Amino acid sequence: MTTAEITVVGAGLTGSLLACYLARRGHQVSLYERRPDPRVGDGERGRSINLALSERGLDALRRIGLEHRVMADALPMRGRMIHPVAGPQDFQSYSRDGDKSINSISRGALNNALIDAAEAADGVTLHFGHRLTGLDPATGSLRFETPDGTVRASASVVLGADGAGSATRAQLVAAGVIREDVEFLDHGYKELIISAADGEFALSPDALHIWPRGNSMMIALPNPDRSFTCTLFWPNEGESGFASLDGPAAVKQYFGVHYPDLPPLSPGLVDDYLRNPVGRLGTVHCDTWHVPGGRTALIGDAAHAIVPFYGQGANCAFEDVVELDRCLTETADNWETALPLYEKRRKDNADAIGRMALENFTEMRDKVASPIFKATRKTEHA
Ligand code: FAD
Repeated sequence: MTTAEITVVGAGLTGSLLACYLARRGHQVSLYERRPDPRVGDGERGRSINLALSERGLDALRRIGLEHRVMADALPMRGRMIHPVAGPQDFQSYSRDGDKSINSISRGALNNALIDAAEAADGVTLHFGHRLTGLDPATGSLRFETPDGTVRASASVVLGADGAGSATRAQLVAAGVIREDVEFLDHGYKELIISAADGEFALSPDALHIWPRGNSMMIALPNPDRSFTCTLFWPNEGESGFASLDGPAAVKQYFGVHYPDLPPLSPGLVDDYLRNPVGRLGTVHCDTWHVPGGRTALIGDAAHAIVPFYGQGANCAFEDVVELDRCLTETADNWETALPLYEKRRKDNADAIGRMALENFTEMRDKVASPIFKATRKTEHA
C-alpha cells in the first residue's frame, strides 16, 4: 500500500469521518478547518442543532466502532406527528409494524465525537482556524488564512469536504476543471426552541413533528435535554415569508393564527424568531467530483449539497466516505483509479436523492395533511 500525504479540507461531519477512515488505511492526514475547535466554546446560534440519522449513516459509524458512542444520546423517532391548525395531532408510523425509526442526533455532539476519533487516530493532524483560500489542483499546493497570517502547504491528494459553500469547489471552478450549478430554493430556514416543560418533553419525544401549512411548514426534533429544536421552512419573501414578520406584534399574531399550539410551548418564541438567522437552502450540482490524475476530489455537501427534506444530506455524505474507502481497497490505494470509481458509484445516487429531497418538500408541507394521503397510507398499512 502506498502511504500518501493527504489533505482534507473541512472538519465537519464528512471531513472528520473521512480522516478516520483514511488514517485506518495507514495514510498521513492533515485535516484543516476554518472554525476554531468546536469542542471548546459555544456553538453557532440558530444553526441546525440536530439532525435525523438513519441506517445509511449509522453503517458508516458502525464500521469504525463509533455507533454506540453516537447512539447513546440518540432519540428514536418512530413516525411523523402531524399538527394541523385545528384538531388533534395525527401520528403516521414510518413502518408497518411501528418497529423502525430514524434517530434524532445532536449535530454538535456527532461532530465532536468524529473530531475526537480523528484526533485519536494515528496519522491525523488537526489544524483549526485555517480557512482554505487557495488551491492549485495541478500541484496540490494550498493556501490558508489563519489568525496568525497566511499559511502555505502542499499535499499529494486534496479532498474537499468543506460543505455546500465549498471553497475547494470554488477553486476548482476557477481553475476551469469543474463546472457547478447551485440551485437555491425560494424558501429558507430558521430555528426556534420548545424548552422542556417541568423537566419533561412538551411533545411526544418519539416522533418527528410536522406542522404542514401548504406552501410552508415547521418541523421539530427532540433533544436529549428534553427540548425540541423547531425548524421553520418558509418562503423568504411574500405574504407568509420570513421578511413579512418585522416586529414582535406581527410574530405573535402570525404564530397565534397559523401555529396556535406553539406559543404556549415556546415562551421565547418572539425573541428567538427575531434574533435567529435565516439560512439558505439549495442543491449543488457538479459535472464531475474529481480532477483526473488522482490528486483532487470533492465529497459530502461540497460535491452534492441537497435540501434537507429527506433528512439524508449527512447520511449520504457518510455513504460517500464508505464508498471511497471501498474504492481505495479495490484499487490498492491507487488514487488515480479510485477517485473516478468513487464518483461513478456515488454520483447517480446523490443526484437521485437530491431530486427526491426536493419532491419530499411538497409531501411534508402539504400532502401529509391531505385526507387522500391519509386514506392511502391507512390502506398501505392495513
Ligand atoms: P458541513 O457540515 O457544512 O461541514 C463543512 C465544514 O467545512 C465545516 O466545518 C466548515 O466550517 C468547514 N469549512 C468551510 N469552508 C472552509 C474553508 N474555506 N476552509 C476550511 N474549512 C472550511 N442531513 C441528514 O442526514 N439528516 C438531517 O436530518 C439533516 N437535517 C438538516 C437540516 C438543515 C436545516 C440543514 C441545513 C441540513 C440538514 N442536513 C441533514 C444536511 C447535513 O447537515 C449536511 O449534509 C452535512 O452537514 C454535510 O456535512 P459536510 O461535512 O459535508 O458539510
